[in-house]
Amino acid sequence: MPIYKNNMKFHVVTLFPESFSSYLNESILARAQKNKLIDFKFYNPRDFVKPTKVQTKKDKPYLRVDEKPYGGGPGMLIQAEPMLKALTFIKNKIEKNKKANKIKIIHLSPSGKKFTNTYAAGVTKKFDHVIIVCGRYEGIDARVKKIFKGDGLSIGDYVLTGGELAALVMIDTISRQVKGVLGNHDSVEEMRNASPDVYTRPEILVFNGKKYKVPTVLLSGNHAKIEEWRAKQAKSSNL
Ligand code: SAH
Repeated sequence: MPIYKNNMKFHVVTLFPESFSSYLNESILARAQKNKLIDFKFYNPRDFVKPTKVQTKKDKPYLRVDEKPYGGGPGMLIQAEPMLKALTFIKNKIEKNKKANKIKIIHLSPSGKKFTNTYAAGVTKKFDHVIIVCGRYEGIDARVKKIFKGDGLSIGDYVLTGGELAALVMIDTISRQVKGVLGNHDSVEEMRNASPDVYTRPEILVFNGKKYKVPTVLLSGNHAKIEEWRAKQAKSSNL
C-alpha cells in the first residue's frame, strides 16, 4: 500500500453537522479518508454562543444563533458573531500547524458564482484547506463574508433550504480531483476522452422482448478506434 499524504482538508461550518456523515462515509470518499487523502472537520456555530437567559423556570436555556433581519422581511438570519468565532477558531487551528496551510474560504449562496469542475480542479491544485460556510434560513449576516474574504459560490440556479447539500456537492467534486482518490487517476474526465454513454455486461441486453446491443466499436479491441468514438461522444457533452 503506497503512503499517501493528506492532500485536502475540508472544514465545514454548519448548524447541522450530522447531515454529512452518511454520504461522506460511503464508497470512494470513505476509502479516501481511510487512506488519509482527504479529511473532514465540522464546526457548529451554536457551540460558539452562550445559552440565552431563562425568563421563567419552565424555559430551557437555548443556544441562539438566529435573529430577525434589519429592514424587515420574512425569515431569520444567522448572526455574524457565532460564524466569526467558528471561522477564527478554524483559522487559528490551521495556522498553528507549521506545515502547508494554503486556505480557501467558500461562502455558499444561491446568488454566488457558479461552481464548476474547473474551479474544483484549481482548488485541489492550489490549496491545502477548504473552509465551507453553510447558511440556513434567509442566509448569514453579510459582514461575515466581508471579514473572512473568500469565494461566493452557488451550485446552481435554485434555492436550497441550507448550504449542506451544496457543501457535499463541492466536497465530492473537489475530492475526486485529489490524486489517488479515484482508483486510477485517469478516471478524472479531463485527463481522457470520457464518453457520456458507457456500457458493461451483458453484450446483448433483452428487456421486454427487445434487444439492446453494445456499440460494436467498443467490442472491436481496436483502441485507436475506441478512443476516436469516445472523443466524438465527449464532444457532444458539456464536461
Ligand atoms: N434568501 C437567501 C436564500 C438563503 S438559502 C438568498 O437569496 O441568498 C439558505 C442557505 O442555503 C444559503 O445561505 C446558502 O448557504 C444555501 N444555499 C441555498 N441555495 C444554494 C445554492 N444554489 N448554492 C449554494 N448554496 C445554496
